[in-house]
This record gives sequence, C-alpha cells and structure tokens, in this order.
Amino acid sequence: MRTRRTIAAAMSVLALTAVAACGKSGSPNAAPPGAPQLPTYQVNTGFKLDSSPTWVKAKQAGKLTIGAKADQPFLGFEDLTTNTRNGFDIEIAKMVAADLGFTPDQINWKTIVTANRETAISGGQIDYYVGTYTINDERKKSVSFAGPYYVAGQDLLVLKSNTDITGSDSIKGKTVCSVAGSTSIDRINSLGGKTVTYDTYAQCVDKLLTNEVDAVTTDDTILKGFAAKNPGKLKVIGKPFSQEPYGIGLGKDDKALRDAINNSIKAHEDNGDWKKAYDATLGLSGSAAAPIPTLDRY
Ligand code: GLU
Repeated sequence: MRTRRTIAAAMSVLALTAVAACGKSGSPNAAPPGAPQLPTYQVNTGFKLDSSPTWVKAKQAGKLTIGAKADQPFLGFEDLTTNTRNGFDIEIAKMVAADLGFTPDQINWKTIVTANRETAISGGQIDYYVGTYTINDERKKSVSFAGPYYVAGQDLLVLKSNTDITGSDSIKGKTVCSVAGSTSIDRINSLGGKTVTYDTYAQCVDKLLTNEVDAVTTDDTILKGFAAKNPGKLKVIGKPFSQEPYGIGLGKDDKALRDAINNSIKAHEDNGDWKKAYDATLGLSGSAAAPIPTLDRY
C-alpha cells in the first residue's frame, strides 16, 4: 500500500516537473531548442567585505535578500508554476550575488513594487534591489546606486489596432496608465495626459487589454516584454522620450558594497556574461541590446 502510494506520489511529481519543464506557451521561460543559453556564475567563496555593514549582516545570516519585480516579463518575472524568477534584472542580481560569495540557494528574493523601493532599502528589508530602477538625484537622497548597467527610455504601449496614438505628443485627451512612484508617471503627468495609476505594470496592461485605458507608459524594455507576451495584441510605439539609466539600489552610506557591486558589473560586462544574459532574456522580446553604459562610480 505504502509502496503504491509512494509510486503514485513520485509519478505526480514527475508529471508536474514535465509540465513545468515544457513551460506554458508564451511564458517567458519557455526556451525553444537552439535558444540563447543563460550564463552560469561562479560563486566567489573566499570573498570578504568586512567594511560593508550590509554584507557582514547577510554573511552572518547566511542569506542575501534581494528586492526584485515579479510581473515584468524578460526582466523581473516570477514563474509561479516553477517557483523561480527569470529575466535580465534577475541575472544581473545573480551575477552580483555570486561575486559577493552567495550561492543561488542563499538568495532570498523579495518582491517590491516601484513605490516601495526606497523604504525597503533604507529600512533594511532588502540588501540590494535590481528591478528597472532609474538612477536619479531625488532617489539618491535616500538610497545609493551601483551602475548604470542598462539605459532604457520611456515609451507607450497601445492595442495593435490603435492608430491615433503615435507618440508622447498625441496623448491629449487619452487615458494613460502607469505605476505609482515611477519616473514614468511623473513624466506623463508633466506632459498633460489623463492618467490612471496602479501598483504594477501588469495591472495597467490588463486594463489596456480590456479597453479601460488607451495606453500604458513606462520604460520601453518593460513594454516590449508585455508586447512579446501578448503576441498580435499589443504594440510599442517605439519613440522613446526619456533616458532611464538602470542602477542597483542599495543602502545610502554603504560605499564598500556599492564599489564591490560596480566591480562585479564591470567584470561580467567584460567577460561576456552581460551580453549572454541579455540575449537569453530581454533579447527574446525582439530587440538587440542597447550599448553597455559607462559605470557612474561615486
Ligand atoms: N525605470 C522607471 C523607474 O524607476 C520606471 C520603471 C519602474 O517603475 O520600475 O521609475
């Protein structure tokens, strides 16, 4: 009896694994044969950074808590069927973790939405944050940034059938959706659009698909991911109207950690991991990588 039950349990685990391995069609982690492969990162087991209070605390705890997005396909996405995270930001976070001496199973992921990033970092809820996080002076008042490791630009996402929104100069009288606490909502408000605000871009995209808003605005990277995930339904206008340099957010006064993260980013840009990671994540949404930006060390 027990054996039969054990076999049945083992079979259902196998069946679940098989389903998970196939991936749902259209899910961002469904890798077709011959698809670009993700890099692997060697853990620097002997690494030490005693001058960083964040690193020392994480090392003592035996885990590194990383803040990320969970709803942004190809960037920061949580696959609830496999309980794994994938995307370009996730890869950046993982390569840095390995250099800081943490194994993948020592990473404790925490989903933090746009509006809560500064408080999560300054309140010590996370050790660092990687998630389409634009470096700017306002945010630098409460957190610090390594990077930039990518530069995106604000754009608009509309239904494929839409012909009257052609760029940021044609949003008058239209309802545009974006996210609280983002640079995107601030800029679109300053351009005079009628706006609707949610916590996540996925919520905005749902409203677009049901015709409750006319457009979604944020970084082109994020919008391209949603367009690729909804083939034939959505299009990105393709006329970016800002520069969004992405940084890794961390404690304001932890210069030792910031320097170490910058060294890590640079090493993985130079050894080809950055490009390989891009091609196997964000690259799958159909755009070649933008040039690698110069790090802004301070
Ligand atoms: N990069 C922009 C920002 O940091 C928009 C994307 C986001 O909300 O993460 O505000």
